Amino acid sequence: MTKTAIVTGASRGIGAACAVELARIGYAVAVNYRVNKNAAEKVAERIVSEGGQAFAFCADISVPEEVSALFDAAAKRFGSVSLLVNNAGISHIGLLQDMTDADIRRQLEVNLMGAIICSREAAKQMVPQKSGSIINIASMWGEVGASCEAVYSACKAGIIGFTKALAKELGPSGIRVNCVSPGVIRTDMNSELTEDTLRELTDETPLLRIGSPEDVAKAVAFLSRDESSFITGQILPVNGGITV
Ligand code: NAP
Repeated sequence: MTKTAIVTGASRGIGAACAVELARIGYAVAVNYRVNKNAAEKVAERIVSEGGQAFAFCADISVPEEVSALFDAAAKRFGSVSLLVNNAGISHIGLLQDMTDADIRRQLEVNLMGAIICSREAAKQMVPQKSGSIINIASMWGEVGASCEAVYSACKAGIIGFTKALAKELGPSGIRVNCVSPGVIRTDMNSELTEDTLRELTDETPLLRIGSPEDVAKAVAFLSRDESSFITGQILPVNGGITV
């Protein structure tokens, strides 16, 4: 039987790699995006061209009505959702004292509230099924804290706490909740970093390279599989060996 996955923020970067990888292991995938329709449709087309099932769906994960519409569309198309990957996120680099209320609110709304709203919607479909899996994408900065990304780091630390708590709440219903915590991954989110900064970050990484979206996607695929069926409430670092 085909299993249904929703990957938020799957038009680009880590989310796109997760959508492709999950389709390869048999999930029918809802490829969520907020603005980049063409990119999301290309991800869905790639999955279909490889023999999988996917469709692109626009929803701002910080808006509960749009999240409900996303889950309804996925269930209608492929059947009840059995996997949610809370991946969509935005960064903000700058001093805290320079951030506006709107900057702070948007970080919290997308990076923390968004994952919580999507997980609530997932729980509504998964609890009656007594099975399912939620995988949250946190960040190494949520574990160690990043200067000039204090609010982003706080959101990601919140995601880690949320993962541990929700795993306890949903475990008795047969639902696993885990977290992948990436280090520095080459995506659009890091496009503002200079080559010098990327070189420094590479030098600080024991494996001496920056990660790829596929590195993260492979970890997500592992946590989605039955092979990891006794793993819940865990934080899996995918960071090239940086000590957190
Ligand atoms: P990215 O390349 O900037 O892509 C962000 C994705 O999120 C896009 O698909 C974007 O959709 C979507 N998105 C943004 N706001 C959204 C919203 N309100 N509703 C729905 N979708 C939204 O980012 P990335 O580097 O792949 O990061 C993915 C996740 O990994 C994020 O949670 C990030 O914090 C985390 N992470 C990244 C790194 C890294 O080094 N890159 C490290 C640690 C953790 P559109 O294309 O439509 O805008």
